[in-house]
Amino acid sequence: MSKEKELNEDIKIIASFYGVLNQLDKTIEECSELILETSKIKQYLREHNFDTDWSWREHIIEEMADVLVMIKQLIYIFSCKKEVKSMMEYKVKRQRKRIQEKCNQNNIFEFEIEVDKK
Ligand SMILES: [Mg+2]
Repeated sequence: MSKEKELNEDIKIIASFYGVLNQLDKTIEECSELILETSKIKQYLREHNFDTDWSWREHIIEEMADVLVMIKQLIYIFSCKKEVKSMMEYKVKRQRKRIQEKCNQNNIFEFEIEVDKK
């Protein structure tokens, strides 16, 4: 079995074992932890003027993984993989279009991302 398939099977088992109400609570908890970690990083980046050693990186990776695991469980529980994917595509495309319009209005042809990938 591929790692991806194994991950999905494990996610189904976890979601089925704990059930919808517990996993909704767990999602709230994990999202809160991600919000907290995100706020800490934002403060750190501002205080260090974006000059960073990326020492905080492992913390945000852990919290992102926790939230993604919960999202995957909710997708399984609510049986909505295709709907979530097409909603993501719609929202990303819409936002990309808004950026393009803003760039066109302001004659912006290039822009930089504040923190580049490591
Ligand atoms: Mg967590």
